[in-house]
Amino acid sequence: MDTNEDSLDGVHASGDSAGLLRVSFDGVRRIQEIHFRRRRKIARKKAHDRRVARRLLDREGRRERHRVRQRLHRVSKGLVRFATEARAAIVLEELTLHGAGGRSRRMNRRLSSWPRREIHRQIEYKAALEGVPVIKVNPAWTSKTCPVCGARRRDRVGKVFVRLLCDWEMDRQINAGLNILKTALASNEALARAVRFQPGALRRDVVSPLYDLSALPTGAREEPSGVESQTGVIPSPEP
Ligand SMILES: [Zn+2]
Repeated sequence: MDTNEDSLDGVHASGDSAGLLRVSFDGVRRIQEIHFRRRRKIARKKAHDRRVARRLLDREGRRERHRVRQRLHRVSKGLVRFATEARAAIVLEELTLHGAGGRSRRMNRRLSSWPRREIHRQIEYKAALEGVPVIKVNPAWTSKTCPVCGARRRDRVGKVFVRLLCDWEMDRQINAGLNILKTALASNEALARAVRFQPGALRRDVVSPLYDLSALPTGAREEPSGVESQTGVIPSPEP
């Protein structure tokens, strides 16, 4: 899976079969946008009092991280459960501090890359508890390579990766996920014995979401739209 701002994107593969897969982060990006606007407003309104501004901004930051973390816990739980039931390994890219290639500098400033690192952290410790292997691969070129023939593009890749010579057209993020699996298969013999992956066969495949996450019995309720009610404190159980 390729890790993006609002989803993990890629493929699930077993033996000779494979299917495109997207694991949505359940609205995390929207939460980030809402809090980004709020922080900007606070900074503007409290420009005359930096100490008050700092305190309010810190509180907004804590609320945002708390909300994002809750959503990501549902996502990582769903993915690890899926991998446990399928007796599968999870392949992710090694995250660099600069983020995967192609993301604009403006976007890097706007939306922090923290959720991407956080989802990896959660997947890794939950997978370890369940005995699900997590394989990390070098992300170099994953978004710029044609998974069918291995050709690399040096120009900018848009929302869709296209290579006419291979009759290949694929969502850029999913495309990166396919290359991540190919990289893992090239370097991991045990994995290569279990999976024979033919990306070309996925030409007309539709992307399926991992789960309808709302259908998962998680116990974590959807928080009300006003985050004001969020205290960020987990109540301790009654004795
Ligand atoms: Zn190609």
